[in-house]
Amino acid sequence: MTKLFGTNGIRGVVNEDMTGELALSMGKAIGSYLRKTRDKPSVAIGTDARVSNNMLKTACTSGLLSVGCDVVDLGILPTPTLQFAVKEKDFDAGVIITASHNPPEFNGIKVIDGDGTELAKDQEEEIEGIYFSKNIEKTPWNMVGGFSQWDGAIDLYKESILSHVDVDVIRNARLRVVLDCGNGAGCFVAPSLLKELGCDVRELNCEPDGFFKGRPSEPVPENLKELMKKVPEENAVFGVAQDGDADRAIFVDEKGNFVFGDKSFALVAKYVVRQNKGGKVVTPVSTSSCLEEVVRAEGGEVIYTAVGSPIVARVMKKVNAVFGGEENGGLIFPEHQYCRDSAMTFAKMLELLAFEKKPLTELIDELPKYEVVKLKTRCPNDKKSQVMERLSEIVADESEVERIDRTDGVKIYTKNGWVLVRPSGTEPIFRVFAESKSKAVAEELASRYKKKVDEVVQH
Ligand code: MG
Repeated sequence: MTKLFGTNGIRGVVNEDMTGELALSMGKAIGSYLRKTRDKPSVAIGTDARVSNNMLKTACTSGLLSVGCDVVDLGILPTPTLQFAVKEKDFDAGVIITASHNPPEFNGIKVIDGDGTELAKDQEEEIEGIYFSKNIEKTPWNMVGGFSQWDGAIDLYKESILSHVDVDVIRNARLRVVLDCGNGAGCFVAPSLLKELGCDVRELNCEPDGFFKGRPSEPVPENLKELMKKVPEENAVFGVAQDGDADRAIFVDEKGNFVFGDKSFALVAKYVVRQNKGGKVVTPVSTSSCLEEVVRAEGGEVIYTAVGSPIVARVMKKVNAVFGGEENGGLIFPEHQYCRDSAMTFAKMLELLAFEKKPLTELIDELPKYEVVKLKTRCPNDKKSQVMERLSEIVADESEVERIDRTDGVKIYTKNGWVLVRPSGTEPIFRVFAESKSKAVAEELASRYKKKVDEVVQH
């Protein structure tokens, strides 16, 4: 194995791939990486609510201490809460033990940079290099790091959210909300934050449980049936569900319909851009044109990046964006912090509803409608870049093609919609996404371009 970090840190099944030994060595590698630029780095560590959290946290802490880092344990908390504490309390880095929405037998390690953002790919590769080289400098006994605990992160984080929404407007609206934390780390923040916002909160799966006894952790329609049933029963304005480490928020409208992440993203983007009277919104190339259409209509601009929330966050910083995010419910509010944040997302959604005084179904219905078709096709990993080059050459001459974008994979804009051909980072496949205002056109585009990819792969 030469690769540990995936798109979202290191993940694996506990005591199979994700062992105490790995966490210990990773602690040493992360610490050695930090020691390159600072003498005694300070590292905040925390976990989500999984059964294996303490085993991995203590091992990783031991590794960090052994190479001379000072470690502060922040306890169980959402990933964005740890990220906020790292930025605000001037830690040199953060480590969160989490496997996000994966099943309970999984766990993982994610490293946070000193500014609270997720590490960039090249930084992760450097840590990987140290890990595999086993080239870790011995630290003398009197240089071993110090350990302490701090329980102030959650209050600090909630204060920031409350300072970035119109609390009076939300409180006066006295909105009823069904909250489904999915027994994850969100339980430590979301119920009390909603109460502080004056909401009448109906709780579902709001006790932390390392086995995710209430529902599987990923906020997808099949896992949120209970929430979808409860929202109309309770007469709530919406339901909101978090994933295991509470960086993503997914909504259910007042009638109990699942609201797909591209819709809630576009709705909040429209609101934020209108409030800012324009501004830049950053998102990956795979995001629905629904976003661009509403952002443009409000006088804003969409900037596209390669797929991955750390990339989105970094570009947002660079271009001074007013908003950004991904279609999976991971929205980024730069005035608060540069990372996906579920609690900030539902707080902003409450403000939006309190201001608009319309039901969520109506607001969603006002958004432009696009149809997406997703296919995949096989291609050996070593041929992928050649195939993409050849594909962009072939399609460049076609009359229906208006523009080709190579930000991530090959995105082909045609008169009636776009097609994105993206190599999977983990499997020998290409994903072929097509989007159009018409379902039939999206289907036709997807199957025709999948065929083109197959032909290129064969030659
Ligand atoms: Mg997550």
